[in-house]
Amino acid sequence: MSTFAILLAGGSGSRMRGVVRDKILEPLAGIPVIAHSVKAFIESEVIDGFVIVCRDDEQQAEITNAIQPWLTKDVPLYWARGGKERQDSVLNGLECCPENTSIVFIHDSARPLVQKESLIKLADTALLNGAGVLAHRVKDTIKQVPPQTKPGISVDHVDLDRSTLWAMETPQVFRHSLILAAYRKIITEKIPITDDVAAATHAGHKVALVENLHPNPKITDPHDLLLVEFLLKQKRI
Ligand code: C5P
Repeated sequence: MSTFAILLAGGSGSRMRGVVRDKILEPLAGIPVIAHSVKAFIESEVIDGFVIVCRDDEQQAEITNAIQPWLTKDVPLYWARGGKERQDSVLNGLECCPENTSIVFIHDSARPLVQKESLIKLADTALLNGAGVLAHRVKDTIKQVPPQTKPGISVDHVDLDRSTLWAMETPQVFRHSLILAAYRKIITEKIPITDDVAAATHAGHKVALVENLHPNPKITDPHDLLLVEFLLKQKRI
């Protein structure tokens, strides 16, 4: 039985609206964004191999170069192609895992600050509960507004009790058979989701929270790159 990490690097969002060529490959404290996650997984010793989900042959070649120095020889690496939406990419990655995969981590390569201690806690949680997610308590006050609301228009706000709100991060970790069946159901039923916990929940599974007290932001906008670089250089993570 083995444990695999699926690293998501596909999707057109990685071009960051033309500001950078590929955010996954941008240098952060001298190391490409995706290599930070590879390094954390290798150092944690919780996985037996990687599946990297990428956009095309060109990105695959560039990622290969970017992560080469951090990969150890005995860690197998498989490649899957990204799909139209994140959920299509995840299903492709899950189907690419070797048959004896028992536990799978699903991780956005756009979160380079993940720490090896968190990966070890997640692995223990998956063994105990079958499913776990790295998450943090919400600090902002969150209001729900009607769909498609534009700024500047007066609308009704629904107040949400902040003490019940947690923000989901990645990695999210599952028994492979559980999450593969859950994703097949989501895709068959054409249900849009933005994380893997939603797939597991839709299939009737409970997912344990693993609290992360360290910043683990998803690089989305150009200023996120500056913030993450600062945190890495200061070692304030
Ligand atoms: O677009 P977003 O930032 O939510 O993407 C989260 C992660 O999912 C990123 O690491 C991105 O590379 C990946 N993704 C993917 N396939 C898609 C869309 C996003 O692999 N179609």
